[in-house]
Amino acid sequence: MKTKEIQSLTKEDFIFLEKSLLEIGFVEITKTDSKKTFNRLGLSPPRPITGKEASYMYTNNNYTVKIHTTFLKKEGKWRDTSTDIGWCLIAEKDVRKYFSRPFQRKKGFVLKLLRYAWITKWKVDNRHLCPSCNRYMDIKRKQATRQYFWCCTNKTKHTQPVFLSWDHNLPPKAKQFVTKRRKNTLKYNKNNELLGKNPTPAPVIRKKWNMRNPENQE
Ligand SMILES: [Zn+2]
Repeated sequence: MKTKEIQSLTKEDFIFLEKSLLEIGFVEITKTDSKKTFNRLGLSPPRPITGKEASYMYTNNNYTVKIHTTFLKKEGKWRDTSTDIGWCLIAEKDVRKYFSRPFQRKKGFVLKLLRYAWITKWKVDNRHLCPSCNRYMDIKRKQATRQYFWCCTNKTKHTQPVFLSWDHNLPPKAKQFVTKRRKNTLKYNKNNELLGKNPTPAPVIRKKWNMRNPENQE
């Protein structure tokens, strides 16, 4: 099982990644934006972090996709091996609604992250309306299986919640890709189980930032 990161990512890889993200409509999260968020929520990292990684966002239908690349633009290099992983998530203002499995910087990192950026953007662009009441559906997650799904709990219009699967209407090619990745994840987890390792769900490992001003959350 290959779990080791390869540090073969180059600056050109980043240039390609950024160009591709901008082409499909993402914009860079500026230093000013990040600072404002840090100050507003009083955020401080759980462990020292080096530099500001290049991150991108895309907003539509009240959801924002965020991509964290682990590339330090100012320094012109990728964060050191094993110190960070790539992320793709969906937030509704300050609330994080969805995390994809994180992206280790192994072979194919850039393309995987890009494909996920595209798929996640598609999900936001095509945020479903409830088939029963036409309100925006929300992203929810099953506790037991950790599987995401779409849900509407507009009790004034329907007593029972309405559900759609997470990949509802996803184009076939995209569906093929996510299915393959989930299969690999299952295999990876199974292997860890056999080895007696119990990998903590990655979003939990991901910085539990300290928040001094939770009342300023939106
Ligand atoms: Zn509804």
